[in-house]
Amino acid sequence: MADWIRRSMLAGLAAFFAAALPVSVAGAQSPLKVVATTGMIADAARQIGGDLVEVRALMGPGVDPHAYRQTRTDILAMTRADLVLWHGLYLEAQMEDFMHSLGARRTVVAVAEELPRNVLLAHDDYENRYDPHVWMDPDLWSKVVVSVRDALIAARPEGEALFRANAESHLDDVAALSDYAKQVLATVPEETRVLVTAHDAFNYFGRAYDFEVLGIQGISTQSEAGLNRVSELVDTLVKRRIGAVFVESSVSDRNMRALIEGAAAKGQDVTVGGQLFSDAMGRDGTYEGTYIGMIDHNVTTITRALGGEAPERGMLSRLAVGS
Ligand SMILES: [Zn+2]
Repeated sequence: MADWIRRSMLAGLAAFFAAALPVSVAGAQSPLKVVATTGMIADAARQIGGDLVEVRALMGPGVDPHAYRQTRTDILAMTRADLVLWHGLYLEAQMEDFMHSLGARRTVVAVAEELPRNVLLAHDDYENRYDPHVWMDPDLWSKVVVSVRDALIAARPEGEALFRANAESHLDDVAALSDYAKQVLATVPEETRVLVTAHDAFNYFGRAYDFEVLGIQGISTQSEAGLNRVSELVDTLVKRRIGAVFVESSVSDRNMRALIEGAAAKGQDVTVGGQLFSDAMGRDGTYEGTYIGMIDHNVTTITRALGGEAPERGMLSRLAVGS
């Protein structure tokens, strides 16, 4: 149905109910319109907001936030939203200027910018900026969930009790995920605790679970991977006998193929340990299309590929087999 038809129908219904019912009836208010840039932020807003919010994510599965630029439809949605949530920390590099100017007209909150600087990681090739991939550590992400909750409360104070209750239950799930990750990743043998990925999205993961993390590209997928970086990593794979590397759902596997071929030419057999969700979640409507499912998938895939022990279908037995 065209948006304008739906809107006018809703307006008609609202007028009907306003005439028929006392104004104070709970639920008469229309849902808070929230637009979130990444799927992870949208998921938090949905978990917390329940029926009181209507959430739209701009970046779907497989979309790279470092490269994403807002479309005309996105701009329309954001200018009509009651609340716009974005990540910040230069994750949405191409949208930065637009978001700042939108902030003058709309309520716009950069949820990851609210993290204290002392918990953030810096990076050599990323001067004066912090690594934005904080969702890779559930303990850190739980602080972002709290920022999402507070932004919803500020935008719709009448929903405070519900938002707080939903957030508490979601935070319990995130804490359980954190416990699961610690438990299964600890079973990965010391010598194979090396995570080789397409770009440097896993440094918070590495810090939280004591893994060495090596990305072919830097913090942003916008930086080109030099041939030097590929041959340097080939040498590392060969020297340390690393047998598995990981591709990412939102990044091309071209560099990874070059890496595997380079290692093979030097006699080191390297397999793809699986596809990880680095900067985008799995398909909409699936378990992997939620924050919990995304991280469960990554943790379970990494653990099993690098010689540790984790149930094939993950923490809640909900992972798609062979995903
Ligand atoms: Zn990234």
